[in-house]
Amino acid sequence: MLTTRPRGTNDILPGQVEKWQYLEELARKISEQYGFKEIRTPIFEHTELFLRGVGEATDIVEKEMYSFFDRGERNITLRPEGTAPTVRAFLENKLYANPQPTKLFYIGPMFRYDRPQAGRYRQFNQFGIEVFGSHHPSVDAEVIALACDFFARLGLRDLEVHLNTVGCPDCRGKHKEELIAYFQKREHELCETCQKRLHKNPLRILDCKSPVCQEISKNAPTTKDSACPECQAHFADVKEYLDTIGIKYTEDPRLVRGLDYYTHTAFEILVKGIGAQSAICGGGRYNGLIEEVGGQPLPGIGFAIGMERILLILEQQKLFSLQESNPDIYIAPLGNKTQALAFELAIKLRKKGFKVEKDYLDRSLKAQLKSADRFQVKFVVIIGEEELSKGQVILRDMKTSAQTEISINNLEAYLEGRIEE
Ligand code: AMP
Repeated sequence: MLTTRPRGTNDILPGQVEKWQYLEELARKISEQYGFKEIRTPIFEHTELFLRGVGEATDIVEKEMYSFFDRGERNITLRPEGTAPTVRAFLENKLYANPQPTKLFYIGPMFRYDRPQAGRYRQFNQFGIEVFGSHHPSVDAEVIALACDFFARLGLRDLEVHLNTVGCPDCRGKHKEELIAYFQKREHELCETCQKRLHKNPLRILDCKSPVCQEISKNAPTTKDSACPECQAHFADVKEYLDTIGIKYTEDPRLVRGLDYYTHTAFEILVKGIGAQSAICGGGRYNGLIEEVGGQPLPGIGFAIGMERILLILEQQKLFSLQESNPDIYIAPLGNKTQALAFELAIKLRKKGFKVEKDYLDRSLKAQLKSADRFQVKFVVIIGEEELSKGQVILRDMKTSAQTEISINNLEAYLEGRIEE
């Protein structure tokens, strides 16, 4: 146990970390280009926030939250998603007092007690964006466009945007009744959870993971069929905006998303041909959420992208060609008397902006040169006792293997010129 990480978690090791940095950097860059500012909220929140903000009859709340009582008997939950915390922060910090809309993005870990498998973890990372304060259908299209732009810049292929409208509180009532009537006919076949959900929240049956419930759901009445004229009009406008920028989408009347707070537009972006965990982005409008969490009625829309899945796909599609970051200089002290200078020199050169590695194990020159070679450094500074007594070191150019003696005082200036080359 001591040397095993908890199920569903990952260590991100050197070699992988660079890929994460690349993804995160791109997420930040593109968010800024679209006018989004970063927000960082706590990893844990009061459980109540997710009961309200995600919905009590959702899979996340019913089965997947990491909740516990802290030492002060407060009911705490490790955040399973980023939207409710962002709304909470928006309200708590009165960001609504600024000119609207508010456009925020976040990148960070989420926690769900899911069944771990490739692409599905208990701690995973999401890049998400949220726009608060605009009903405009062009915002829906812009949010989808940002996600598509992110994937395009990564070079991802075989993407599908699935789009639906899940209606609003006005048309949801009618749809709920239709669903209850439909599912009641096969009530005893539904899974235990869905039998309980049937009257409380039948919409959730549509995204239940049980194969039987999925089969029964296939012919259930859709949200689109019962959408009111305003919802239909909004949906038509969103599609028109997407058409103008050439984003292809598939209408998917069964797409309802796993969270309760969605209204109007719901979308998912999938990658074809990668198996079960094909959803890489999910999002939609949530015009009721801000009020639900305790604010004034204000519309909102956003998405979350699963970063682990993006990495898996990038690797599958062989889209990574990252340059490893190698040190510029390796310092090779030979013998006890040279250690102090090696230590000082490494620190001094690093402060000047060089990337410097050194030997820490008192090894032979041969072993040190082998290390330097493995690090693919440009230069090795060899410090021998004899040269040191003359105020000199040996500089080895690893490309040509040429060695020159150089005065310690001139070393820095010399390296500056050569390494910039
Ligand atoms: P959701 O917050 O459920 O809408 O999920 C948004 C995206 O996060 C999904 O499309 C996935 O890419 C990713 N995601 C959700 N749950 C997990 C998980 N357990 N492990 C890894 N990625 C996940």
